[in-house]
Amino acid sequence: MEFTQSFPRRETRQIMVGNVPVGGGAPITVQSMTVTKTADHEATLQQIYALAAAGADIVRCTCNEPEAAEGLARIIPRSPVPIVADIHHQYRRALEALEAGVHCLRLNPGNIKNPEHIKTVAREAKDRNVPIRIGVNGGSLHPDLYRKYGDKVTPEAMVESALQEIAYFDEVGFDLIKISVKASSVPLMIEAYRQLAEVTDHPLHLGVTEAGPPPIGTLKATAGIATLLAEGIGDTIRYSLTADPVEEAKAGRQLLEVMGLRERKNVDLIACPSCGRAEVDVFTIAQDAMAAFGEREIPLQVAVMGCVVNGPGEARDADLGIAAGNKRGHLFVKGQNVMVVPEDEMVDTLVEWAEFIHEHGADAALERASATKDAAKKAAEEDRERNLGEKGDDANDAETIIKEIRRKPEHS
Ligand code: SF4
Repeated sequence: MEFTQSFPRRETRQIMVGNVPVGGGAPITVQSMTVTKTADHEATLQQIYALAAAGADIVRCTCNEPEAAEGLARIIPRSPVPIVADIHHQYRRALEALEAGVHCLRLNPGNIKNPEHIKTVAREAKDRNVPIRIGVNGGSLHPDLYRKYGDKVTPEAMVESALQEIAYFDEVGFDLIKISVKASSVPLMIEAYRQLAEVTDHPLHLGVTEAGPPPIGTLKATAGIATLLAEGIGDTIRYSLTADPVEEAKAGRQLLEVMGLRERKNVDLIACPSCGRAEVDVFTIAQDAMAAFGEREIPLQVAVMGCVVNGPGEARDADLGIAAGNKRGHLFVKGQNVMVVPEDEMVDTLVEWAEFIHEHGADAALERASATKDAAKKAAEEDRERNLGEKGDDANDAETIIKEIRRKPEHS
């Protein structure tokens, strides 16, 4: 007999991380974090796409050096999901990340301690309508609070740290906030979140920090996150595992699914955000594809990508995808080109191949393409070269933004 339990959710305010709502009754979102060097924008984007394919709704990248902020300027126009910049110690990196167009910042009150620096960042974020996560971490609690609570990390100290940071933000009228009070101890983090939920209605980001490698890390994170979710606490979650971050995203997604908090029965359509390189109106094709898939129960990941220069590579973890070329669509299965279709047949082709893969599997689809894939690969290469020739290497003007980042007087 099927039994479904819904967990009443705590009421929270809603913020927008890019186009993804967090809190205020929005579906609980899954986050993960890249482990590449953010300055290596191609490797980072590849990982972001893999994370999105595994179920991440939002991805965090470290912004630990000026080159990382420059990497963000190149990554953000091409990322399929909103990007959060993780800031440690250097408030200047936060200002640079904002300049790069990041969708959210994460500040740790334990390591950016100067109130003036915190307020400067909050003012700049306010002007740009960009939210900030106050990321309190038991392992890096502000030293004053550590002393105040008897040289111990306690739930009360962690909550006080978050409230202090909120007070700085209040001074400059900034309230686009979400909060985390993570610890590596499961009982400690559970109690800290419970106490925090009593005193604020800002959305909460749940996690057990430094949970370790699977399976024990997964178990610890699940114990902490699931306990709170069952109490209605939590608006976005992250598994912090010592593992490929794709495992984090999958675990997060699966937890929400098994708790009946997220559903994936139908196609999971991912689409690139479109950028200066796009060869087609990605928004329209993605909307048309969504409408064409409708309620069909095809639990595959399908990608709609605006160009063949980066599309098949960025979305190579999707089961199936199509990337626009010169008035035609390049269909790919698991990142491999399989055929070329006219632009007005892109959506119908996607649906037909998705049904085929659902029924027969990706290997059968690659086999099906054995007669067309060589020509498809060649055509994709031609369109790729043409796009690069026409639009150059810097189709998104990232270099102009990077010059702005470098011009900032604090850039060091
Ligand atoms: S148009 Fe191409 S480069 Fe731009 S975001 Fe889409 S796939 Fe990436």
